Amino acid sequence: MTVFPPRPFIETLVRQVVSQALAAASPAGAATAAAAVAPPRATRSAPRTGTPGPHQVFNSPEALAAKREIVRAARKLWLREYVDGNGGNISCRLADDYVLCTPTLLSKADVRQADIVMVDLDGNQVAGARRRSSEISLHVAIMREVPEARAVIHCHPPHATAYAMTGRVPPEWLLAEPEVFIGPVARVPYETPGSAACANAVAEQATRHNTLLLVNHGVACWADTVTHAEWHVEIVDTYCRTLILAAQLGAPLVGIPADKVRDLLNLKKTLGLPDARYQLSDAELAERAARQGDGIAETRADRRTRPVTLSPEDQEHLVRTITDQVSAALGQGPTR
Ligand SMILES: [Zn+2]
Repeated sequence: MTVFPPRPFIETLVRQVVSQALAAASPAGAATAAAAVAPPRATRSAPRTGTPGPHQVFNSPEALAAKREIVRAARKLWLREYVDGNGGNISCRLADDYVLCTPTLLSKADVRQADIVMVDLDGNQVAGARRRSSEISLHVAIMREVPEARAVIHCHPPHATAYAMTGRVPPEWLLAEPEVFIGPVARVPYETPGSAACANAVAEQATRHNTLLLVNHGVACWADTVTHAEWHVEIVDTYCRTLILAAQLGAPLVGIPADKVRDLLNLKKTLGLPDARYQLSDAELAERAARQGDGIAETRADRRTRPVTLSPEDQEHLVRTITDQVSAALGQGPTR
């Protein structure tokens, strides 16, 4: 004849197991962020003398070509579902002192060349019938800080924005294309969209990153042309999407071998793309790639042991529930 353990014994055992599980799942200290590589300080373009006036610039052949490019990029962003409602904005620097940009309150699917407006480098509108985007301050802040940034796109593509909602950036050295074209993605702490604080936080990191994740907000990408900035948006969103898919496979992620990462950086250099990692030695690069591997492992471990906290009441309820179920399974009813 089987002898069942008494309910108080089961309850004591369950209480111990629940306490131990909760203790094991408590926060174990935040992982330290990867050390930032000191960037070369970008210089602002010196104001030129004898520059053409806004009206002349706004109607120049260069501006007409840029407007065409903006309309094409706007359409691509909408077709790829990177912009919703009137979200997202595109800008293109002209003649050093002026910036073309998409207007506010207009879907990117509907933007025509005649809708595009122009601002100065302080974000003041100087041409165009519609009103400039409310987030233009972010664009001009990047352009003032990074002379190579001739075009900026800001939008909220779902997969990259999903990452932005977790406060994490995608890991490095898992796929070649993102490494070559966008490199390490910056993480910009949340600031109110459209505020000077938001613009400054983005610009500060734009000197070392052409692709930035804005926590709880979206992405900002800069490049030499609008077309290339749009490519960066595609690449970062596809990379984030691929990472989300890979995570569902449940298998460990395999990083690009540390002794191969220099090849990608050399390729990137020939394309004239910025990357703060150029200045790292082979040993530092290998160490960073290895540390990245640790980061991938930590990410999965974090997910398994995500911090769990319960109130004393909830913990007691859990103990009672498990005890009831174990007792029921053993043929004993609840005692309460
Ligand atoms: Zn935004």
